[in-house]
Amino acid sequence: MTQKILVLPGDGIGPEITAQASRILAACQARGLDVEVEEGLVGGSAYDAHGDPLPAETLEKAKAARAILLGAVGGPKWDILEDLTKRPEKGLLGLRKNLGLFGNLRPAITYPQLADASSLKPELVAGLDIMIVRELTGGIYFGQPRGIEERNGERVGFNTYVYTESEIERIGRVAFEMAQKRGKKLCSVDKANVLEVTILWREVMERLAPEYPDVELSHMYVDNAAMQLVRAPKQFDVMVTGNMFGDILSDAAAMLTGSIGMLPSASLNESGQGMYEPCHGSAPDIAGQGIANPLATILSVAMMLRYSLDEPMLANRIEEAVGKVLDEGLRTADIASAGTRTVSTAAMGDAVLAAFEAL
Ligand code: NAD
Repeated sequence: MTQKILVLPGDGIGPEITAQASRILAACQARGLDVEVEEGLVGGSAYDAHGDPLPAETLEKAKAARAILLGAVGGPKWDILEDLTKRPEKGLLGLRKNLGLFGNLRPAITYPQLADASSLKPELVAGLDIMIVRELTGGIYFGQPRGIEERNGERVGFNTYVYTESEIERIGRVAFEMAQKRGKKLCSVDKANVLEVTILWREVMERLAPEYPDVELSHMYVDNAAMQLVRAPKQFDVMVTGNMFGDILSDAAAMLTGSIGMLPSASLNESGQGMYEPCHGSAPDIAGQGIANPLATILSVAMMLRYSLDEPMLANRIEEAVGKVLDEGLRTADIASAGTRTVSTAAMGDAVLAAFEAL
C-alpha cells in the first residue's frame, strides 16, 4: 500500500535542507519506495500564511501521513509575538501532542572523518555510536500540578515529576527493542537514590528485562551518566531515560560529536508513525545563504526509512552515501577543516545523491 509522507520545511534554513533531503527521498522512490510525498506549512511560515503555527490543514495531513520530515522552525521574526500560542515552536509541540509521539530517538554518532571536531580527544569519540531513547510526552515537563503561587508570604514555584507504569513500560519496550537491533546493551538512567518516580522506573525496566534475554540491562544514576558521557562515552550502546534527563543528556551527547549539523532524530508513537528532523534549529544567522549543512536532514530520511517505513536497506544506502562523501573530503562550512573542500548546501546534496546512485 502506498504510504504518505509529509514534508514540512519550516523556517530559516528549513526549506534549504529539506530540499536536499527530498531529492534523496525521490531517489528512493525511483528505486521502488512506494510513498506519496506532499508538503505543508508549519511554524513561522505557517503563522505568516494562516495566522497559526499549526494550521488545521497541516495537522490533518500529518495525521494521515506515516511519517513526517521536518526542517526546523523559529526565528527572530516571530520571537516578538506576544501570544505565546502563536510562536513557531507551538507548531512542533502541537504535532508531538496530537500524534502522541512519546519515543524520542537521538543518535549521537561521530563519523571517524569528523572526530577532530569534537571538544573531546579524538580517540575518546572516534567511532562513537550511542542511541539515546528519551520519553517525550510525560515526566516533569507535563506533570500536574504545576505553577507559581503565593504561600506563607512568599512565591513558590512547583512542578510534578510523574510517570505511570504504562508510560514507563512503553518507552522501555522501545529501548529494549532498539538494543536488540544494535549492540544489545541497554543503560537505564534514573535518580532512584532520591526520586520515587525513578524507583518505579527502575522496577519496570527490571520487570521487562527477562522478556529481552539477549539484552544486557544496566542502571546508572543521571549524575554519573553525565560524567561517564564525557569520560568514556563509547561504553554506551542504548540509553533510556525520562523526558528531562533525556533532554539534557542527549544535548551533551550531541556535542560529543562536535557537529550539530550531522545529527538526525526521530519521534515515534505506538503505531510506528514518526516525525523525523535534524537536531539543530532553523539557524537564522545563515538562512538563505546556501551554506547550511543538509546532512542531518538527509540522515533523518534514513531514520524514517528504518523506523517508519521498514526499509533498512535504503536507510543503510543513504548512510553509506554520506560516509562516502565525507571520505571524499567534502564538507559544508560548519564541519570544514584543513585539507577538506568546502561546498554549498546544494553541492552537498548533489554529492550524496551521486554516491547513493553509485553504491
Ligand atoms: P540553531 O541550531 O538554529 O543554531 C545554532 C548554531 O548552529 C548557529 O550558529 C547555526 O548557524 C548553526 N547551525 C545549526 N544548524 C546548522 C546547519 N544545518 N548547518 C550549518 N550550521 C548550522 O540554534 P539557535 O540559534 O539556538 O536557534 C535558532 C532558532 O531555531 C530559534 O528560533 C530556535 O527557537 C529554533 N530552534 C528550532 C528547533 C526545531 O525546529 N526543532 C530546535 C532548536 C532551535
